[in-house]
Amino acid sequence: MQNKIYLSASSINIFKTCKRRYKYKYIDKLNKDTKLESKFISFGQSIHKAIADFNSIQNKEFKTLQILQNLLRKNWNREGYEGIDEEREFGLKGLKMLEEYFYNPQDIATENLLIENTIKEYRNNNIILIGKIDRAIINLNNEIEIIDYKTGNTIEFGGDFVLDPQIAIYTELFKNNFNKVPDYVSFYYLAHNKKVQIKIEPQHINLISEFLNDTTNDIITEKELPCNVSESCEYTCEFCDICDKSYNIDEKLLDELKTNIFNTNRKSI
Ligand code: SF4
Repeated sequence: MQNKIYLSASSINIFKTCKRRYKYKYIDKLNKDTKLESKFISFGQSIHKAIADFNSIQNKEFKTLQILQNLLRKNWNREGYEGIDEEREFGLKGLKMLEEYFYNPQDIATENLLIENTIKEYRNNNIILIGKIDRAIINLNNEIEIIDYKTGNTIEFGGDFVLDPQIAIYTELFKNNFNKVPDYVSFYYLAHNKKVQIKIEPQHINLISEFLNDTTNDIITEKELPCNVSESCEYTCEFCDICDKSYNIDEKLLDELKTNIFNTNRKSI
């Protein structure tokens, strides 16, 4: 029986950046810990849970800053920090982030449609589209808005439509499950308390379907799953120590020096 393929924003991103990493993670299912990033993952999960719990509260009396910050304490994930000082530093950053969110929220809703829901869709027996939507709301302009909360420092999106895996997966899953196209997919950068809204226009729908179909096809037909070695391997890839083509900065430097010396010698002959 053929292995099931789960098509998520992160699996597509990994396939597009390094097919060998995709193989290790999603085909061989090697279970490597992600020590490199685990404190950031823990921090992100803690903030996401606190905001999800807070936005699920119906009674306005309980919508206070103290309760929001206590939800962070309740949901705090302690894994990955190097010591108590680092954990405290992240904790204080989280409390401040939530304070700014509380006093100037960019995600005011007249109705919550989804909060932390995982949606799956079978494309066929073996291909499953999957995405976790942080929140979908009816916003103050009576539009459907899907919101993805980000806890990192980098603002990745400008505001124009791009064929990004997250935008594609959220739009497609929402459209197919609820028979409605979202008006916006938004990325809420909590570290800056800034929301970037991406308008989903009718002409984007076909582009998104084509993108997902083409990507599925690429994944199914790809046989070699080669490495894509880069300088960021050792910082971003959990399989760096087992990858046979793993980037070694010292070796690369040595190679480059040898090549330069060789070229210099050739010129002087
Ligand atoms: S170490 Fe680099 S080349 Fe190897 S699997 Fe990871 S990302 Fe790919």
